[in-house]
Amino acid sequence: MEEIYLDNSATTKVCQAACQAAMTAMAVQYGNPASLHRKGFEAEQLMTKSRKSIASILGCDEQELYFTSGATESNNLALQGVAQAKKRRGNKIIISSIEHPSVENTADFLGSQGFDIVKIPPRADGKFHAVDFFDAVDDRTILVSVMLVNNETGLILPVQEIARAVKRKNKEVLVHTDAVQGFLKIPLKLKNSGIDLLSASGHKLYAPKGIGLLYMARGVKITPLFYGGGQQKGIRVGTDNPALIAAFSTACEVYQADAKAHDAHYRTLKSHLLQSVADIEAIEVNSPADSASHIVNLSVARLRSEVLLHHLETAGIYVSSGSACSKGAKSHVLTALGLPDARIDTALRISFSPETTTAQLDCLVDKITEGLAVLAKLK
Ligand code: PMP
Repeated sequence: MEEIYLDNSATTKVCQAACQAAMTAMAVQYGNPASLHRKGFEAEQLMTKSRKSIASILGCDEQELYFTSGATESNNLALQGVAQAKKRRGNKIIISSIEHPSVENTADFLGSQGFDIVKIPPRADGKFHAVDFFDAVDDRTILVSVMLVNNETGLILPVQEIARAVKRKNKEVLVHTDAVQGFLKIPLKLKNSGIDLLSASGHKLYAPKGIGLLYMARGVKITPLFYGGGQQKGIRVGTDNPALIAAFSTACEVYQADAKAHDAHYRTLKSHLLQSVADIEAIEVNSPADSASHIVNLSVARLRSEVLLHHLETAGIYVSSGSACSKGAKSHVLTALGLPDARIDTALRISFSPETTTAQLDCLVDKITEGLAVLAKLK
């Protein structure tokens, strides 16, 4: 049975070049980058090369990049790090109401520690408007954190516009973006973007799990989460993992080389899928028309997400119910977007990779149609 993996927003298959880069680093450049001898130097050189490569893709300086274990850590480091470093200047932190739990729960934790957390909801049109963030900022605001692409619906948030607006009101405000789902998919050059901190994760971009990054613009000061041996300028301590770092930068290079073609491919896939389901009355699309090209969220009336997900699995088709991170909990994102419960309980997220084909999407639609005929009747 062909495996049809349509859950690339949950995680991706590691690309061959990234596997190879990790293998070589583990077998050859296996030294501790902090060691003073040649094996240490080799490992350090590999890290420097990786950092330079990602910096040139992102349009930033290599000194502005810190490697972490993934975006959950990067988001915690950004929010907690800014909060601790700036608490004498102010205590207000503004986020959108549809952030990933690694931002939202961190913000809630800071709320329990005395910070004033404001969550900006979308307007009735389902969109976020920069002016709402502008209005919420005051002279006690230290941080605004807004994701680049929502992981459940693919909604693209106007991060740069929000950054410009909030800095017009208070130029001291730092802007963080959780860019995980848009990383190298939504074109973004960091220089002069107004973004001070950015989180990304390797495993959403064909690199292994356990590696991510935090971009922090020169001059931004944060308090670290951990204390230790002083690696990565003391911002992220602990022995660095050159194998994962090399795999991450390799995956970025491979993806970036064809990023435009991948986007065009996703657009073809998305319009094919939307056309195929257009005539199926039971299906409603939850992603906005202008959402990111690689994510489609739709609801299949009367079929609970988990039931349909397992039905699809019997045909080797893998999708996500809403968001893989929420594991069955009612999606706060779809709730914030004002969808009725019946639609939230039946939401599926389909997310593409460059290897996805229209034929695979046809299999998906056939199997959903079969599910509608068989499963809905069983009820
Ligand atoms: N932010 C978003 C938007 C995500 O989709 C995810 C992964 N589901 C994360 C953060 C967490 O990333 P990681 O798995 O690297 O910790």
